[in-house]
Amino acid sequence: MTSAILVLPGDNIGPEIIDEAVKVLRAVIVKFGLDVEIKFADLGGAAFDKAGEPCPSDTMALAHQSRAILLGAVGGPKWDGLERELRPEQGLLKLRSQLGLFANLRPAIMYPQLCTTSSLKPEIVSGLDILIIRELVGGIYFGEPRGIRVLENGEREGFNTYKYSESEIRRIGRVAFEAALIRGRRLCSVDKSNVLEATALWRETITELASEYPAVELAHMYVDNAAMQLIKEPKQFDVVVTGNMFGDILSDAAAMLTGSIGMLPSASLDKNGRGLYEPCHGSAPDIVGTQKANPLATILSVAMMMRYSFHRTDIADTIELAVNEVLDNGLRTPDIMSDSMTMVTTREIGDAVTARI
Ligand code: NAD
Repeated sequence: MTSAILVLPGDNIGPEIIDEAVKVLRAVIVKFGLDVEIKFADLGGAAFDKAGEPCPSDTMALAHQSRAILLGAVGGPKWDGLERELRPEQGLLKLRSQLGLFANLRPAIMYPQLCTTSSLKPEIVSGLDILIIRELVGGIYFGEPRGIRVLENGEREGFNTYKYSESEIRRIGRVAFEAALIRGRRLCSVDKSNVLEATALWRETITELASEYPAVELAHMYVDNAAMQLIKEPKQFDVVVTGNMFGDILSDAAAMLTGSIGMLPSASLDKNGRGLYEPCHGSAPDIVGTQKANPLATILSVAMMMRYSFHRTDIADTIELAVNEVLDNGLRTPDIMSDSMTMVTTREIGDAVTARI
């Protein structure tokens, strides 16, 4: 794998937020003397418009050759009428599945400067810094057999299969222990082992793995309790690891503790540390071209890229510190605006972060 970074601006606000993130990326490349090459390609509606498909083979080939991929967002009403396999979102799904991205990392960080944007009390969420690690390609969302069948009495029955093999559990477990090592060294594994055998094996396997990571303090929690604790006392968590379905729900709940969609980065990693980095939000067609889009989630995705694909915690810290300073200085895009702050454009907030690098 080379040290190339592939940038996929995507659709609607995608190119606007990517412009700012790439400025930051170029600034850290220069400041830290990184030996990486940035390449660009199309994904989503932009790719369909040029090549007639949402994830063309040249984009996929470049993705396979890259250490990390930075994505803006894809989709929008312009392409909603296309048949399913040609829609922009299908391009992203193809990219994720063909790259084998099995580990989804979603931090929920509450910047103290923004704690009035949360629906919870500031003292509960101020200083919050959780990383939710969700297994992305297994569990009940993919388990076979699945379907809807007709029973002997004529009634229909829907069914799915929840299963995880030991190797699947160990693979995501390692990502979680490694992440805990470079954070607060506390890992909470979430399951429903009192009811589901598949997650009893999950708990057993994660417990066994813990012996390889003596520096990490491991705890277990049932998913129903984890949901309550996230709302009641979210700051008790450092890294949380869980399966696909529980992670889907808990990561959205944790993200919303922070209250602002424009601030949430994410990473999806393969077994070699190659990652797809993207903001959690969509392509926001309602604000395209207005310079109202918040680019900070995408800029913070660059920080995650440095931390997880380039193992450069120092660079990640530098980017996150720059974002913090910009917030300290009162600069805000409309989505995070509050009294007595200064409203700025997408470009101005990107420039401010870049200047601090
Ligand atoms: P959305 O996240 O694009 O927008 C929801 C709301 O949040 C909108 O009001 C939007 O203006 C606002 N918003 C989103 N990002 C923002 C930002 N950075 N700064 C300020 N405000 C922001 O969700 P949606 O409207 O449901 O979807 C729009 C399109 O995006 C759809 O085509 C959908 O399929 C696609 N989508 C793509 C991805 C992705 O690329 N990963 C994810 C979700 C949705």
